[in-house]
This record gives sequence, structure tokens and C-alpha cells, in this order.
Amino acid sequence: MDKIEHIGIAVKNLEDSNALFAQLLGTSHYKTEEVASEGVRTSFFKSGPNKVELLEATNEESPIAKFLEKKGEGIHHIAFAVDDIKAEILRLREEGFIVLNETPKKGADNKLVAFLHPKGTNGVLVELCQEIKVE
Ligand code: ZN
Repeated sequence: MDKIEHIGIAVKNLEDSNALFAQLLGTSHYKTEEVASEGVRTSFFKSGPNKVELLEATNEESPIAKFLEKKGEGIHHIAFAVDDIKAEILRLREEGFIVLNETPKKGADNKLVAFLHPKGTNGVLVELCQEIKVE
């Protein structure tokens, strides 16, 4: 795995949190993106070589809605950049980690993503993400 690509933070209201994180980081978010399949609206901030992703639920079935209900606002996941997500999924499964989606799916910010179950990673939801390259 490469660097930490971003940290995902679950928020109740994306507009309020965009304003808050703009104050905190001293820079505005540079994009907002809805991922309908996941029931989330996201925004991204740059923080040096890393990013902060804010996630708001767009419906009650959204994993973010469930997370907010259970735990409230806060850190939702840590995403690591990988060069070859399929190879990483195989490697991690081999190591005994629980991969939640064995087929990478299209996430926000032009990424293919896969998640590891927090049960196998000390309670941390881990996202693997690979930049989608235009061939
Ligand atoms: Zn993420």
C-alpha cells in the first residue's frame, strides 16, 4: 500500500461541515460529488499530499446514515492508495482480512474502491483506492 490517500469523515450536514473544514484547513473544498449507489454526497479538501473527504447520507439506507445513527459524527474510514487494487484484494484476503467487496467498485473522486471489514482491522474501516486511469 502507498500513502494515506484520504480520511473519510461522516457528517450530518455537508454545507455546515464544508464551512467548518474550510476554516480548519484554511482552504475551501475543491469538489462535491454524489455517489448515488452508496447513498452519499461527498466533498473533498486537500491537506498537503492527503485529502479529507466529508460524507453526508442522501437516504436512510445509506451506510453513512447508519453510521451516524450508531456512532454520531466522526472519522468513518481511512483510505490507502494502491497501484493495483485487485492484487491488493487478493493479497489481503490471503492474509485473512475480510474484504467487503471483492470486486472493486466505482467510488468518488475517480477511484476504484474496496473496503475491509473493521472487525479484522482493530475497528477501523479501511478503504483501498486506486486512481482510474483513462486508457
Ligand atoms: Zn473514502
